[in-house]
Amino acid sequence: MPRPIQALIHHDALRNNLAQARMHAGARRVWAVVKADAYGHGVERVLPALDAADGLALLDLAEAERARAAGWRKPILLLEGFFEARDLELIDRLSLDTVVHDDSQIALLAAHRASGPIAVHLKVNTGMNRLGFPLPRFAGALAKLQAIPHVQVSTATMHFANADATDDGGPAGVAAQMRAFDRALVSWAGLRSMANSAALFMQPQVGGDWVRPGIALYGGTPCAGRPAVGFGLRPAMTLRSTLIAVQKLERGDCVGYGSRWRATQPCRVGVVACGYADGYPRVAPEGTPVAVDGHIVPLAGRVSMDMITVDLSGAPDAIVGSTVELWGEQVSIDTVAELSGTVGYELMCALAPRVPVEVID
Ligand SMILES: *Cc1c(COP(=O)(O)O)cnc(C)c1O
Repeated sequence: MPRPIQALIHHDALRNNLAQARMHAGARRVWAVVKADAYGHGVERVLPALDAADGLALLDLAEAERARAAGWRKPILLLEGFFEARDLELIDRLSLDTVVHDDSQIALLAAHRASGPIAVHLKVNTGMNRLGFPLPRFAGALAKLQAIPHVQVSTATMHFANADATDDGGPAGVAAQMRAFDRALVSWAGLRSMANSAALFMQPQVGGDWVRPGIALYGGTPCAGRPAVGFGLRPAMTLRSTLIAVQKLERGDCVGYGSRWRATQPCRVGVVACGYADGYPRVAPEGTPVAVDGHIVPLAGRVSMDMITVDLSGAPDAIVGSTVELWGEQVSIDTVAELSGTVGYELMCALAPRVPVEVID
């Protein structure tokens, strides 16, 4: 028998979240971002529920291969482009769209013998200062690409640094990045792709022809501090387990490594089969909510490798075998993340391979 821990992937939530993204997208087409193994949900597991998307965006060639093998026929976009010459053979064979963000990639494209046209998305650095050509070099890069017979530049693209924040008027604010993009693209008549989840849900003035939501599809909030439910989003992942032991403590008794948590009155402590080796954050502080049989109870004591402990005072009927939700509908992954000083993205992506996953269609 496996340990009772399990992750559930909910197709209805993915479909709902894609529909919400579409509603915000209006006439714009949607790249469903499935990088990092679909933010930890599993590329093959999410594809059936994302079939209404117009394309997939990811950055690992192996994941592109898996998506094609799973039967995805619509476009697939490589968000970081390619890394070496032989990647171009795969781009050819799988007919992938690719970002080009650097001169080295243009040189590789020029040297490549392609069997058909390669769709290129030319990336502009509008202030994030991570990937992309600086504004003054956009036109030159475009001209070089257009001179390669087997290249078809389809889209100009950029990425926002602060789409979930109030614009401070600085060089990486949404308005400044949009102005920079427009300046670089004065003589560009092709397609544009700008918005991630935050820009899609929070910045209606950001236009373009394609949008690229990721976190929102999985039910994570597109804006830190604002609950995902408020955006009509539902969690695509539930992490659940059970109580495997219950301890009765007297006042003054401690629990776990370092004896950090001490009972201030006689109480019961539940032991959950879930620890940091399953992907639960070790830094989660005491008080982090955990749902036991539908009651929210606080984490008590340090998270260990295979177990966490919770104060069962708020769940008096809980017994060994009681169901526990670490995150999902009852406990938002964003809440656990925020208390742990991180974002829902990281927790989803860190779901450990040892956790059995079940897809709920
Ligand atoms: C990851 C990524 C996205 C999706 O971002 P979310 O915040 O998850 O919506 C969009 N565009 C690019 C270029 C990305 O790397």
